Amino acid sequence: MAETRTEIIQDMFYSFNRDPHTASGLVESFCKKAFHMDPVYMRQAVNELIATHQYLPKYRDVEIQYGKSIPRNVNQEIEKCLECRETGLVHTIFKKTDTGKREIYGLEQSPSGMYYTFIIGSCKCLNGNVYRQAHPSVDMPKWITRLAQQKGTDCLTVIEKMHSYCNERSREQKEKE
Ligand SMILES: [Zn+2]
Repeated sequence: MAETRTEIIQDMFYSFNRDPHTASGLVESFCKKAFHMDPVYMRQAVNELIATHQYLPKYRDVEIQYGKSIPRNVNQEIEKCLECRETGLVHTIFKKTDTGKREIYGLEQSPSGMYYTFIIGSCKCLNGNVYRQAHPSVDMPKWITRLAQQKGTDCLTVIEKMHSYCNERSREQKEKE
């Protein structure tokens, strides 16, 4: 009998020495977000993550790996894309502080709290097609596109760099206090 998505996720937790029953909230959250995944390709993606990751992957890693595991139509080329860097997913940055979480809309003058990247939708390029069912297509936030153009790079790289930069600055700030 074919595996269920829950079984696959549970197995992934076991593979990283985490008991899925004590982490049941997290397992449930993974399963909820993965509702659109075909268990056959999900298994391939999870196997790949087990083989290549040192720590329990984040849901985002599963999603990206899943996209790579889905067989593409032979005619469907990977489209070079400066927004999603061929991942097919549009990310942005959220900030979490004591008062809650919110999306940020530009360079932070004085970083504080914790920053994390978040999938807000699929990219409008060809690479986004495999995610369309789970993530409606969205535009990349303008400030990120502008910054990427200024820096001569793609939007996802800007997001990743900004994410680690803000977290480092925020940590430094906290140590000073
Ligand atoms: Zn794209």
